[in-house]
Amino acid sequence: MARYIGPTCKLCRREGVKLFLKGERCYTKKCAVERRAYAPGQHGQGRSKATEYALHLREKQKVRRIYGVLEAQFIRYFEYADAKKGVTGEILMQTLERRLDNVVYRLGFARSRSEARQLVRHGHILVNGKKTDIPSYLVEEGEVIAVKAESKNQPMFQGLQEFLSKYKAPVWLELDVENLQGKVDHLPARSEIDVDVQEHLIVEFY
Ligand code: SF4
Repeated sequence: MARYIGPTCKLCRREGVKLFLKGERCYTKKCAVERRAYAPGQHGQGRSKATEYALHLREKQKVRRIYGVLEAQFIRYFEYADAKKGVTGEILMQTLERRLDNVVYRLGFARSRSEARQLVRHGHILVNGKKTDIPSYLVEEGEVIAVKAESKNQPMFQGLQEFLSKYKAPVWLELDVENLQGKVDHLPARSEIDVDVQEHLIVEFY
């Protein structure tokens, strides 16, 4: 499946906010947004006031980049949300949040969504006891997401239980630290999604 493979920190600098795409580095002084708080490129420091269109576009790009979704797939998520009953923007956010790579990240099994995507792609994650290696898989209420038993001793999971013992998962997920698994208690409401975007701008954009 296609994914963005260009420089990650440039995406944050383009949006002018931290998108937390790189795990621990994002919380240190090495963060590029803290060191160079202007857009990348030759004209990055001389930007004029954004137009209405640019404001809508940037909000859409921001969400896309946070969840690591390419344009074509993002449009499919929008069409799916638009076809459902309810507030389109909220359904869009809920759908993105239900992605398996995001859920693995939210459970604290990975420090970033891109790391979570890799764990899924490499077959370390089970959904209801079955290996699921599709990062875009949408979890359902009641499903159990777990680290595969054979993977628990691998280096990337060393120290994970200790980290998780201090970690607070979102309220819509039930984290079981001892068994390195989590259950989807309910699908997230917008108020339970900790992503600072104005999704109505995205709806207006499309
Ligand atoms: Fe964004 Fe993290 Fe890079 Fe900072 S370190 S610019 S938050 S990806």
